[in-house]
Amino acid sequence: MEKKNIDWGNLSFGYMETDKRFVANYKNGAWDEGALIDDSKVVISECAGVLQYAQTCFEGLKAYTTKDGKIVMFRPDLNAERMESSCKRLEMPVFPQDKFVKACEDVVRANAAYVPPFGSGATLYIRPYMFGSGPVIGVKPSEEYQFRVFCTPVGPYFKGGAKSITIKVSDFDRAAPHGTGNIKAGLNYAMSLHPIVQAHDEGFAENMYLDAATRTKVEETGGANFLFVTKDGKVVTPKSDSILPSITRRSLVYVAKEYLGLEVEEREVLFSEIGDFAECGLCGTAAVISPVGRVNDHGRIIEFCDSADEMGPVTKKLRETLTGIQMGEIEAPKGWIYTVE
Ligand SMILES: *Cc1c(COP(=O)(O)O)cnc(C)c1O
Repeated sequence: MEKKNIDWGNLSFGYMETDKRFVANYKNGAWDEGALIDDSKVVISECAGVLQYAQTCFEGLKAYTTKDGKIVMFRPDLNAERMESSCKRLEMPVFPQDKFVKACEDVVRANAAYVPPFGSGATLYIRPYMFGSGPVIGVKPSEEYQFRVFCTPVGPYFKGGAKSITIKVSDFDRAAPHGTGNIKAGLNYAMSLHPIVQAHDEGFAENMYLDAATRTKVEETGGANFLFVTKDGKVVTPKSDSILPSITRRSLVYVAKEYLGLEVEEREVLFSEIGDFAECGLCGTAAVISPVGRVNDHGRIIEFCDSADEMGPVTKKLRETLTGIQMGEIEAPKGWIYTVE
């Protein structure tokens, strides 16, 4: 298979139209078989549930080429499982988990020419999503839905090394207790746009959101979970019902315990204690872990001594181990690497 003529090393994290996408329609209480199609445009009712009442959720995962030349996806079953919980919370019909994984695989195979080569640092980002496509004017769930999967090649997250970022404590809340913070809903992102634009204008890379009820506990950023390392090398990740269960964070916790023999605590993290941590990182599919050097709390700077400028040693080891597992250089736990045949 001939690869597309793409400058893999200089891709950004942006959208590039690829050849094929998967589309399935839900109508009269059932999903159709779905198919790979050429048309990248979506045509729906002007009164579609997604357009009027934001009835939509999504997933994000990667395919890439391993050292031995295989095209693989990383833990797509967990994305399928998470999308199921998003759909249930938004009163959307579940797209069966096995068919979700197969749709992702079919899209990757059909766009194999866009899967970046091993060693380029680039990956193929896969975006499954679902939305209410049927008309609703009274507030209720749509009766018709579309499930789609497209993919786009994206560049290496860190060009020229992972420099630490400075983030700010947000005065906005990301998610309410008992709200939708634990599902991957578009609405969680719509409301984060104003805070992130403001943060960028002020020179910060991201927002740290605190729990909405007490504003004393660390939640997450707009699109990544926190991971902290104590001065004696223990990994700590915030536990909360209103953060998104990141697959990267859950994988890193496993790697920390089972591959690196580190102690891990998943617990509530008080904002008042973060100054005691040596390292801080943000976990998500795009960057795996990106280092946080400083948190600005209304002018007061909290600095993580071991990740102030660059990735700290524990964060770095975690990142190298997980990316090694993903790339086939380190043996993966059973079921983590899904080969696209
Ligand atoms: C997608 C997402 C993450 C990261 O999850 P991964 O499964 O690791 O990519 C973290 N926080 C939020 C709010 C997200 O939407």
